Amino acid sequence: MKVVKFGGSSLANGEQLQKVFNIVVSDPERKFVVVSAPGKRHEQDIKVTDLLIQCAENRLQGKEIQPVFDEIIGRYESIAEELSLGTEIIDDIRTNLQGLLNETGEDHDHFLDAVKASGEDNNAKLVARFFQSKGVEARYVNPRDAGLYVTDEAGSARVLPESYDNLYKLRELPGIIIFPGFFGYTKEGKVVTFARSGSDITGAILANGVKASLYENFTDVDAVFSVNPKIVKNPKEIRELTYREMRELSYAGFSVFHDEALIPAFKAGIPVNVKNTNNPSAPGTRIVSERSNSNGPVVGIASDKGFCSIYVSKFLMNREIGFGSKLLSIIEGFGLSYEHTPSGIDDISVILRDDQLDPYLEEEIIKKIKEELQPDDVKIEHGFSLIMIVGEGMRKNIGLTARAAKAFAKAGVNIEMINQGSSEVSLMFGVKEDDEKKAVQALYEEFFASVPV
Ligand code: ASP
Repeated sequence: MKVVKFGGSSLANGEQLQKVFNIVVSDPERKFVVVSAPGKRHEQDIKVTDLLIQCAENRLQGKEIQPVFDEIIGRYESIAEELSLGTEIIDDIRTNLQGLLNETGEDHDHFLDAVKASGEDNNAKLVARFFQSKGVEARYVNPRDAGLYVTDEAGSARVLPESYDNLYKLRELPGIIIFPGFFGYTKEGKVVTFARSGSDITGAILANGVKASLYENFTDVDAVFSVNPKIVKNPKEIRELTYREMRELSYAGFSVFHDEALIPAFKAGIPVNVKNTNNPSAPGTRIVSERSNSNGPVVGIASDKGFCSIYVSKFLMNREIGFGSKLLSIIEGFGLSYEHTPSGIDDISVILRDDQLDPYLEEEIIKKIKEELQPDDVKIEHGFSLIMIVGEGMRKNIGLTARAAKAFAKAGVNIEMINQGSSEVSLMFGVKEDDEKKAVQALYEEFFASVPV
């Protein structure tokens, strides 16, 4: 049995839903279908989830909601019309959303989650209705009825372990199961959503729960590319990569998956196949526990901007017991999470995501570090990009760092920091944001341009 997940662009209009139907029924193993809310039909379009957020926020601020409410219903309506599904399903969706919007209550975060989750919930009902209209046995299953329980963390729920056994029972239901992505229920019965793009997480949880043979994730690209196509034209497609490689790549800016989305599938050893709804016969990219085929030590290059560094220097830092841990606990005290800590004998840098800081907070952090650690120098620098070269084969490959450094030098890019060693599958460079594009292009040239497909 396979779990098949379709993203928002695969469900954006009636034509797309028809493709989804054809894909699902072409393989009798495709029993569990996880759906997102309708996504963008074109570049300038707005996802239903974003419209729902706007609608809920307007409601909370006492503003007019009718135009955006009508736009949301209009999205479902035009799909239902295109597929001749009748008006009953739209009446149900309208009543459901109206009901949710009337229950603002005291707890605004949960109100927002309930409204957001309705995007996938109502879409699952509509997709099930469509499948039934084609004469196929299909049913919508609500995550509460299926026992998909989550922690009570609005907007970033985590699955509770007992959910997996509950979900296993879905195998017994006849026909095709249409399951809404993106949310689960707390034990008290509250709707809580995962992080944005969380339908991928639902797909991975379901794949784990039902012990699927494969988790197929349908999106709108033929494969995962070895580098961002906005930086390098027509980059090579990746045929196969490991979970570890995928996680490192998505951490540093690959947008195919949220970097934690696949963990439930990974834990159960279920392979994932990323495929294209618009070109389902393309092989796509397989994400597996161990990789067999290899066309070079590097599988992908990722980059992400928006990092800053807290640089601290003090003579004989290496001899001062507890210096590093004191510094990190100061950072923890400000509620900040850090990404990396490259260090030298007398210096240490703590790399953080920039969006956590503001000028006031920066001053406070510097003040505290000065007070508690008496450093010779402390400063916060902004505007860094991190670039990751990722590949399972890297560990055993001699001269890889030298090749990368040579590529940077040739492109005239100064390396601000290097981090290698802790991860066996990646090599990380920090550069100035202005140099990011140049640096990625140079690395791609070095590691991919000469490798035959
Ligand atoms: N619809 C949700 C979002 O836009 C979840 C998803 O599509 O995976 O984030």
